[in-house]
Amino acid sequence: MNGALPRCLPPCVRVDVENQDADRETAGLESTHPQNGAPMPFQDGELFDLTFKSRKRLHTGDSSVPAYEIVFQREGGAEGEFIAPGRAIGFICPNDEDEVERTISLLGLEGNAVLRVSAEDNEAAEKRFNRQFRYIPATCTVKHLLTSVLDLRTVLKKIFLKILGDCCPEKSEDRRKLYEMSVRTELYTKNVLEDRMMIFDILEAFPSCKPSLSVLIENLSRLGPRFFSVANFDSRRIRIIYRPMTFRSCGKVLTGQCSTYFEKIDRIEDIMQRASVSDNADSITSPSESVKCYLRSNVRNFSFPGEEPRPLIYICHGTGVAPLEAYLDWLEKSGSAVQDCEKWLFYGCRDISKDSLLSIEKARELGFRVIVRESRVLPKQGYIQTAIPAYSADLRRLVNSCDGSILICGDYNTMAAQTLRVLETVFGAGDAPKTVAELLEENKIKLDVWT
Ligand SMILES: Cc1cc2nc3c(=O)[nH]c(=O)nc-3n(C[C@H](O)[C@H](O)[C@H](O)COP(=O)(O)OP(=O)(O)OC[C@H]3O[C@@H](n4cnc5c(N)ncnc54)[C@H](O)[C@@H]3O)c2cc1C
Repeated sequence: MNGALPRCLPPCVRVDVENQDADRETAGLESTHPQNGAPMPFQDGELFDLTFKSRKRLHTGDSSVPAYEIVFQREGGAEGEFIAPGRAIGFICPNDEDEVERTISLLGLEGNAVLRVSAEDNEAAEKRFNRQFRYIPATCTVKHLLTSVLDLRTVLKKIFLKILGDCCPEKSEDRRKLYEMSVRTELYTKNVLEDRMMIFDILEAFPSCKPSLSVLIENLSRLGPRFFSVANFDSRRIRIIYRPMTFRSCGKVLTGQCSTYFEKIDRIEDIMQRASVSDNADSITSPSESVKCYLRSNVRNFSFPGEEPRPLIYICHGTGVAPLEAYLDWLEKSGSAVQDCEKWLFYGCRDISKDSLLSIEKARELGFRVIVRESRVLPKQGYIQTAIPAYSADLRRLVNSCDGSILICGDYNTMAAQTLRVLETVFGAGDAPKTVAELLEENKIKLDVWT
């Protein structure tokens, strides 16, 4: 169905381009906060720099789901400071360098040109500018704006395509086609939603389209963070576990924003190996490879039992092991009384010999009772959530009578949603039935999930 476009607001961003080399003042501002000091989503505390130390493959050669760990050094991290297990870090990964260069070239701009960004000179524009665009630095280079402030992979809205049409010469074919794509839902769905055309694809496909930087600022999203759970217990050396995200766009396979950035580590490693340098993890450090980060507020109160001994049931699959790894690290270092408490782990993977991301032995040594389901090993065992009902009485005892909690971590669609349905049945039975909604409310079930 073809629909009318929403009303287009009058422009509120003004950009003056000065074609000169960036001065020191700009470079200084850009390095302290890439986005003008505006708070990032769920930001808890100041931004800090993490420097890459090493990247290690966690899967075996023929596993279809690659996974890696990366270790970072935290700049300025003090000894004795720790990050509580269960916390995640927001990584502000820049746009892909090639995509930035491509966009700058297609726009016909100089990357080093200095921009002065302000509101258009009227009250309504100023109000909107102050409300919506606080993250745009008042002074920065074109390259900085397109690398660290705007998301070049923003999903393009229909109205933006219409605006891009307006940036083509009058009566041109490019203008007509862009306008058509903005009003004909089937064209929009095919090109933008299915083929995932991004701004640089549009500029390439419609070469007469030359949007101004103010148009891009108003219509591309703010470059957002990507979150990764901390998988160890030391704020100076931070470890994460991740799977590279891939998707198709305009016939090519792209990796996710952060995944692309993390791949650099591989390239560093390759170069070092070719130069026959020792493969010691620290030897592959590249001091220039650092990324801006922050601690994510623990909005869902996803936390492990601290010093007071309370039972724990941890249910996870895939990279959902990361917070548990941090907890194992804490248990090992603290020698806490919780070590003696009942701890259960339900862990799902495809084939433990190829894609286990967890040290199961370490979990056992630290007192966990471990239940594993391998979904791709014959005879098929099913997913981890299918293992839960056999332990229903234990789960009710641990949660209802011993004040224990259940932590669920991993993908929502493939694991957590079904796990919650299984728990609904488990806790709906017994002497004191409860719903999952009640258990979530009481913080007896805690979720750390993503899709
Ligand atoms: C609290 C929390 C903790 C997390 N912990 C971990 C962890 O420990 N390990 C882990 O691996 N993950 C974790 N995640 C999930 C991780 O943050 C996401 O998978 C993240 O998106 C990966 O970043 P990326 O930049 O590599 O991929 P992204 O660039 O974000 O891409 C992710 C997906 O988005 C889609 N996409 C991207 N660009 C476009 C586009 N232009 N048009 C349409 N679709 C597009 C694609 O399907 C792509 O595969 C966590 C998430 C949260 C919220």
